[in-house]
Amino acid sequence: MSVGDLQEIVCPNPECEYYLRADGKAIIRRGKYKTGHQRYNCKHCGRFFMDTVGTAIYRKHLSKDEIRLIYRLYLERNGIRSIERITGHHRDTVSNLIRDTVRNEKTEDYLVKQIGLTANECEKLWALLEKKRNTSQKSD
Ligand SMILES: [Zn+2]
Repeated sequence: MSVGDLQEIVCPNPECEYYLRADGKAIIRRGKYKTGHQRYNCKHCGRFFMDTVGTAIYRKHLSKDEIRLIYRLYLERNGIRSIERITGHHRDTVSNLIRDTVRNEKTEDYLVKQIGLTANECEKLWALLEKKRNTSQKSD
């Protein structure tokens, strides 16, 4: 993966006022991860994140159709690896997308209005994500 262009990077923190917002964002490069991924820092909320994270749900690698497909496959209880096989997207991309899907109004709004999930699908998604969080607290 190439080093992300700062222009393309948005804050992946759903708690942040600048969550996925390009206007007014303040993101800087801040070192690298051991994996070689560029590390970024949002100056608004202070969160550090990888290049793949700030863009996964936004626009760089995935179109809205692809994002919708990934969520639908996930809702059908496909694992990350089978979603990788079906969509051709790397499992890191898929798992980052899932991991960064945090339940709140902004995300739900985004999923329904931009991605085209139904309210019912969102409900199922939250339930699945909650279950996942409870069973794998030790991640990374
Ligand atoms: Zn932020």
